[in-house]
Amino acid sequence: MPSILSFVALSNGQPTRASLEVLTRCRQLAAQHGHDLAAVVLAPDPSAAADAAQQYGAATVYTVADSSFENALNTPMLGALDAVIEQAQPAVVAFPSTEGVKDILGALAVRTGGAVIADVAEFEIKDGGVEALRPVMAAKFLARTRAEGNPVLISVRSGSYVAEEAPVAGTVEAMAFTSSEAKQTLREVVASVTGGVDLSDARVVVAAGRGVKDDEGKRLVEELAEVTGAAIGASRAVVETGMFPATAQIGQTGKVVSPEVYFAVGVSGAIQHVAGMSNSRIIVAVNNNADAPIFDVATYGIVGDLYQVLPALIAEIKNANGTT
Ligand SMILES: Cc1cc2nc3c(=O)[nH]c(=O)nc-3n(C[C@H](O)[C@H](O)[C@H](O)COP(=O)(O)OP(=O)(O)OC[C@H]3O[C@@H](n4cnc5c(N)ncnc54)[C@H](O)[C@@H]3O)c2cc1C
Repeated sequence: MPSILSFVALSNGQPTRASLEVLTRCRQLAAQHGHDLAAVVLAPDPSAAADAAQQYGAATVYTVADSSFENALNTPMLGALDAVIEQAQPAVVAFPSTEGVKDILGALAVRTGGAVIADVAEFEIKDGGVEALRPVMAAKFLARTRAEGNPVLISVRSGSYVAEEAPVAGTVEAMAFTSSEAKQTLREVVASVTGGVDLSDARVVVAAGRGVKDDEGKRLVEELAEVTGAAIGASRAVVETGMFPATAQIGQTGKVVSPEVYFAVGVSGAIQHVAGMSNSRIIVAVNNNADAPIFDVATYGIVGDLYQVLPALIAEIKNANGTT
């Protein structure tokens, strides 16, 4: 029976939200087309993540344990994934669209002789191939793309699907692997700290734009992030001034995020910014210009001065949380 293999990316040893979304979509497609569903976990200790993958329906979980996966080095990841694909012979291999996955997807296609569709917002299996919708031109348009290959490798934007549990009593296949072929050495990890929460996988993001003009505005953004458990993002305008780090930039030339709630604070909603956040489930915009384009994509809009709106919003959230 053909199978679908879902790659499970980890954060602190647990599957990322985006990975579970992709796994859920793969489960739906497997059920629809009568395919087997498998997952692959690469980690120094993959056991907890393998259990979690089974909670989301992976009947077989291929695990590869090696300390080199701690830091997502390309060469060992490629070697291990190539070996798992060889073993599992999947028709489709689906990945969350992370920075690490972007790094290896092309090389993996060359190794496996497969086809690739990267960074899609939707995908389905159709007529022996994979069809997908890909945001293009700063996410202004969606391109319908089709790939046929053996296998088809596909990476999926976070927030494209909702992760749903569907536990199975599956099997775990531990694969032997040595990272001797690794030609890379990790010299340094430069961690980006955006409010202490990983921006790409955050459930809530508070993004600051040029309306945040000074230290007081920045402090309000940080406090809103703290009370909502959010990661802090930024428009390019405030990254260029040095007020926020480049790693916080969201948009066409920054990160693509799709949290459950996105606060756009003093952000105008330029197309290059919206390209990185339009997939967010709920968008709350705070802007003193009622004609700002951000209100075209916002779920809730607050027209007002952020220096007055944010303190009131923070007080209400603290009140609701019982932390006043
Ligand atoms: C090739 C290219 C790539 C780009 N890539 C990116 C990208 O990845 N990410 C990105 O963000 N941008 C990107 N840009 C820049 C983009 O075009 C915009 O210039 C930028 O997003 C504007 O940032 P902003 O919304 O913070 O600033 P502005 O457009 O200046 O908007 C500031 C907003 O704050 C509001 N405001 C002001 N004061 C207050 C107040 N007191 N209270 C409430 N609201 C207030 C204003 O009404 C305004 O709407 C790119 C541009 C190009 C050409």
